[in-house]
Amino acid sequence: MKDERGYFGDYGGQFVPETLMPVLDELSQAYRKAKDDKDFWRQFETLSRDYSGRPTPLYLAKGLTQHCGGARIFLKREDLAHTGAHKINNALGQGLLAKKMGKRRIIAETGAGQHGVAAAAVCAMLGLDCIVYMGEEDVQRQSLNVFRMRLMGAEVRTVSSGSRTLKDAINEAIRDWVTNPDTYYLLGSVVGPAPYPAMVRDFQAVIGKETKEQILAQTKRLPNYIVACVGGGSNAIGIFYPFLDDKDVRLIGVEAAGRGIESGQHAAPLMAGTVGVLHGTKSYVLQDEGGQIRETHSVSAGLDYPGVGPEHSYLKDSRRAEYVAVTDQEALEGFQLLGKTEGIVPALEPAHAIYHAAQMAKSLDKEQIIVVNLSGRGDKDMDIVAKELGVEL
Ligand SMILES: *Cc1c(COP(=O)(O)O)cnc(C)c1O
Repeated sequence: MKDERGYFGDYGGQFVPETLMPVLDELSQAYRKAKDDKDFWRQFETLSRDYSGRPTPLYLAKGLTQHCGGARIFLKREDLAHTGAHKINNALGQGLLAKKMGKRRIIAETGAGQHGVAAAAVCAMLGLDCIVYMGEEDVQRQSLNVFRMRLMGAEVRTVSSGSRTLKDAINEAIRDWVTNPDTYYLLGSVVGPAPYPAMVRDFQAVIGKETKEQILAQTKRLPNYIVACVGGGSNAIGIFYPFLDDKDVRLIGVEAAGRGIESGQHAAPLMAGTVGVLHGTKSYVLQDEGGQIRETHSVSAGLDYPGVGPEHSYLKDSRRAEYVAVTDQEALEGFQLLGKTEGIVPALEPAHAIYHAAQMAKSLDKEQIIVVNLSGRGDKDMDIVAKELGVEL
């Protein structure tokens, strides 16, 4: 499915300035070597266990299941991984690769700060220098995560260009990389030029591998549905990937419909975008008729991105996966529902998936099984949710 040049069908590739090509070639080669290196994966597995806390549990959500009165809902608890989200899987994998390549200076971008925190943690643990680019708007919205990164020794650089959010932070990180080819760019999702989409997926696929073993051990069969939220698409592809050949398992990605798809204020390129190029990769993107990238909106910073990983574009066109979108209001409902029925406060990103899974479960019979990827915990979102609900803290 993925060819030598890093395409997934028509999507993917390396749409970057000439000067970046040698650096991408170096990275592709290093990753190809690491992929076949048993020692590399042994290190990844040992640290995943002892540092990140893997395997994360697969939990039968009885309260939520009972509330919906239909299909059984299981939660893959990435919210229990170190630093509070699935982002640590990829940060750890790439941190180990950077170290193997002899790189000492690591750069990363971050939106809500979750990837920045994961990158900062891994760099502190591996003894690497870490610089995190973050949009000015996000620095203000997520000041707690900025402080967390600094506590772990990372330098946070504020980006004041464009919409001053994730897209601009990535632009700035790429600019840094072009001028500092000895630097390692630790990209946070399955986006960007090859080899990132496939490499990040391989590190996140640990989620799906564990899920498969756990659901077989607990129920003796595969789930009927797997539901995950889609920003760049890394937690979704991570849980989907090991199930791609299990054709009876339906894979459902949930994008952010923001204030509604019709409003234009959303972050749903698979639902409402067109094919284009963003950050070095060809995929569905939100753009105007002149090809300019459109402003996006989502209540969850982690889903607030105008592009999506190229493999998802391929899975959409080939219909192996289905994509839907959930609004801000619905996500806030999902957020509160999980707290009340399970005593788990999810991040706003997977709250989109929770809402959709709960809706689905209601109309399915009790024999059916839905697994939701609970990609992260909600601590980072307390201020935002309180404000949305009109609560004074
Ligand atoms: C970053 C983030 C996301 C969105 O990124 P993907 O690459 O689409 O997974 C989703 N959930 C959480 C908790 C995140 O931190």
